[in-house]
Amino acid sequence: MFYLSEQFFSIQGEGKYAGTPSYFLRTGGCNLSCPGFGASYEVNGETRYGCDTYFAVDSAYAASWTKVEKSDTLIASLKKEFDVLGYYPHVVITGGEPLMYHSDKVFYAVIEWLVAEGIAVTFETNGTIAIDFEKYPAYRSCIFALSLKLANSGEPEEKRIIPKALQAIAGHAKEAFLKFTIDTRLVETTAQREIEAIRKILPDLPVYCMPVGESRDTIWKNDKAVFAFCMKHNYTYSDRLHIRVFDTTQGV
Ligand code: SF4
Repeated sequence: MFYLSEQFFSIQGEGKYAGTPSYFLRTGGCNLSCPGFGASYEVNGETRYGCDTYFAVDSAYAASWTKVEKSDTLIASLKKEFDVLGYYPHVVITGGEPLMYHSDKVFYAVIEWLVAEGIAVTFETNGTIAIDFEKYPAYRSCIFALSLKLANSGEPEEKRIIPKALQAIAGHAKEAFLKFTIDTRLVETTAQREIEAIRKILPDLPVYCMPVGESRDTIWKNDKAVFAFCMKHNYTYSDRLHIRVFDTTQGV
């Protein structure tokens, strides 16, 4: 059994496959909370801070999540949507943290079906959860966008950088790349040092950097600094197309 906070068809807005028509499955729940990302929201009159997908992270929103108890039901709904489209889109499994469910029977059966159909699957993950690729071989055929959190997430390093989990993914998955969310202050302080420390663990993976921002306004505050940072250090700049186009709208 696992939780889905939303599912929708859109265009991948960030990372290596930005611009690709993609069907999104967003799981509910995360093993981190990233209070440093600065999105603020109210729960029962209390102000909390988290990432731009706090609605898929904070258990206060769990009542709005869908409990998936049978893989067949979700697979049938995907088949129906893909039939209407007339093709199999790239499927992006995001969160929250989707790999929290990687060993769940129902979740894994959905991944096995996607892989068996030849559908391209990308996991957007914080990279902190170790996958047993021997026991769960379907993950070998998936792409992993390793969205590792840096100091600006507000999480302690020992929680957000787990070398064993990262090396398992880089060593077994068909493709993986690093994706960092950076703001102006981090560019001016520790961003490069932190990224290079991670590259010592994963020396062969390409690096994408994108600006912090849950809205157009906050992206505009950070994009130029990240742009210049990428040019200086030979990293690839990634924009966040869905926010540029739709601003704070959810489900796009
Ligand atoms: S790891 Fe990602 S989804 Fe989880 S709280 Fe941090 S930014 Fe949000």
